[in-house]
Amino acid sequence: MSRRSQKRGDPFYTSKPWREIRAQRLKIDNYRCQMCGCLCLGKKRGMPSPHVDHIKTRREHPELSLDINNLRTLCESHHNQRTRLDQLSKPQIGVDGYPIEEPGSLPPRHTDPFKLPNED
Ligand SMILES: [Zn+2]
Repeated sequence: MSRRSQKRGDPFYTSKPWREIRAQRLKIDNYRCQMCGCLCLGKKRGMPSPHVDHIKTRREHPELSLDINNLRTLCESHHNQRTRLDQLSKPQIGVDGYPIEEPGSLPPRHTDPFKLPNED
């Protein structure tokens, strides 16, 4: 059995093509949330962290994953809101039996109570 790795979520979000197109989208949107217009330069500057959202979800339109016109900048709260609504409408369960999350959008999971003590 392979144990769950430390890496959270989807390798897509750490891939180079994604990081490049994400940076481009942030520049185009001037780091402003496309819902409320707030500036998102990250917590180090006392601002919300910017999130680049897929307007058409990757689940339904994987071919648009790296289409810059399918992306938009959202602040953390609007991104969370959107992610939650999306999951409410179509809950997605991953192969490990947990709902699929986007990295950074939800608080960390509680420790799995069924985990065997000597799994490591
Ligand atoms: Zn916002």
